[in-house]
Amino acid sequence: MRDYIVRATGAQAQIRAFACTTRNLVEAARQAHDTSPVATAALGRLLSAGAMMGCMMKGEEDLLTLQIKGDGPLKNVVVTADSKGNVKGYVTVPDVILPANAAGKLDVAGAVGQGSLSVIRDMGLKEPYVGQTMLQTGEIAEDLTYYFATSEQVPSSVGLGVLMERNNTVRQAGGFILQLMPFAEDATVSRLEQNLSGISAVTSLLDEGKTPEQMLETLLEGLDCQVVSTMSAAFACDCSKKKIERVLISLGRKEISDMIEAEQEIEVSCHFCNTRYQFSVEELKRLYEMSRKD
Ligand SMILES: [Zn+2]
Repeated sequence: MRDYIVRATGAQAQIRAFACTTRNLVEAARQAHDTSPVATAALGRLLSAGAMMGCMMKGEEDLLTLQIKGDGPLKNVVVTADSKGNVKGYVTVPDVILPANAAGKLDVAGAVGQGSLSVIRDMGLKEPYVGQTMLQTGEIAEDLTYYFATSEQVPSSVGLGVLMERNNTVRQAGGFILQLMPFAEDATVSRLEQNLSGISAVTSLLDEGKTPEQMLETLLEGLDCQVVSTMSAAFACDCSKKKIERVLISLGRKEISDMIEAEQEIEVSCHFCNTRYQFSVEELKRLYEMSRKD
């Protein structure tokens, strides 16, 4: 199944809903960063959330960044999404290995630890909009649910999941976000709660072969699920040698001259996609000339 995001409504727009299948993009992220299974699960859950939250944005150029800073062995998990289904991301320590948790599942909470979740929306204004909450469980879906409720005052239900194959490639990945609009009636809320209490994990639904549309039909059963649009999703990075050059130039002359003195080609890799860019001593000298004189 290709990766895509479905946007839908329920109960005559009292509920807005998103669901996605993201196996290919999470596998692409796994390959780019050579992540361990628990790191793949953490990154894959956040990438899936980012893909859905990205398409909540209205502007063509809007950018969303989700940043988890935890005190667990993964350290930070960072995802950036645009409004067109493109996501990229990384974890600070990609090779974390932890024993399974009490439920026999990948211990994402243990790998993330305690810390904060930041949601940064850059809508081309002077200052980006930043919302931050404390992590509640470190399982990511619950943390986003808490974020929506407290920081945006939108009662939400978030489900995210990544299922690995025995050979540690990604078997299934995806998720959903359901949000209650302020005018939602009590009957809608209780029906939704009833539906959610009976639902299995996202990964089970996907592994049963359910499409995002079918997941939403299950979640919004009896609530008149109406698909509004679908959008392809992909792991995509917009880095280039030019962009990395600008980062190097911004380091200043002192840093660059240190690199030149080492008389060796340097390699810089993009955080988000791990693409490696080489700079020869000659190129570094050119960047030195372009950098600030202080
Ligand atoms: Zn990149």
